Amino acid sequence: KVTVLGSLNVDTILKINRLPKPGETMQMNSKQNAGGGKGANQAIAAARCGAKTSFIGKIGNDANGAMMLELLKEAEIDTDAITYSASGTGQAFILLQESGENSILVYGGANQELSLEDIDQAQAKIAASDFLITQFETPLAGGKYAFELAKRAGVKTILNPAPAKQVPPEMLSLTDLITPNETEAQALTGIEVKDEVSCQQAAQKLQALGVKNVIITLGSKGAFYQTKTTHGFVPAFKVQAVDTTAAGDTFLGSLSSQLDTDFTNIEAAIRFANKASSLAVQKLGAIPSIPTYAEISANN
Ligand code: ADP
Repeated sequence: KVTVLGSLNVDTILKINRLPKPGETMQMNSKQNAGGGKGANQAIAAARCGAKTSFIGKIGNDANGAMMLELLKEAEIDTDAITYSASGTGQAFILLQESGENSILVYGGANQELSLEDIDQAQAKIAASDFLITQFETPLAGGKYAFELAKRAGVKTILNPAPAKQVPPEMLSLTDLITPNETEAQALTGIEVKDEVSCQQAAQKLQALGVKNVIITLGSKGAFYQTKTTHGFVPAFKVQAVDTTAAGDTFLGSLSSQLDTDFTNIEAAIRFANKASSLAVQKLGAIPSIPTYAEISANN
């Protein structure tokens, strides 16, 4: 059972030939909405892989909020701990250039108003979970508080430190598993991760700061892991990527659906997560691209 505390966004994907210059007016090639937000992506990935999933988050009383609620319910996610704010539902504008490069503008909206009281209300959901997952698209104080509640209830905590941010040391010492990508690993440790040796150095630095286990995702290269006793590298699947939005979220959500709470099967769980995210990068959009357990196993 997985509980995700995090963001819910509607992504508006604007396909353009190139970024407009300052002062320039340009036609876009297409415009389409898709569900997203790191929290929602991770929860949907976990749920589509068969994990019983609950969500703690905040939306606006608007059409985008209703759309997000519907998407989570469709995936059979427990949405009882989602509250409403007068601010609008979070939104992201994704400028997708022909080159495949992304530029993203995010409106935090309701996500920024998730409060400690909201989290208190969801205490029972946290306590009933195997894993609590959070990221940095909702206020950090809330994530840290939820980790305290989780640890008190013996629930394993997973921190996806994205978007990159300095993390208070107290939060790192409450973290059972941290899952930075290359950029985030460097922001956290000052170490440029490019191969197994530098990954291990960064992971050991994080462990010295109190984190128990580390997975560094390395895009098309795969992922590195370090536990108390073992470490290793699991290569990615070779595919033609069309949109890498939500690759990391699909990786983490699917991982959490397979991982044992003692982390002994971490390598197998990563292999599964690599497969899941290799399918996600072959489709446009965040939530529309996230595969189901059946799709992942059919491709093995
Ligand atoms: P994020 O999306 O958070 O930046 P990464 O880019 O590290 O995270 O991707 C997460 C995981 O998604 C990788 O560990 C890998 O398994 C998979 N992945 C990402 N990009 C590709 C790709 N081009 N081809 C195959 N797998 C990929």
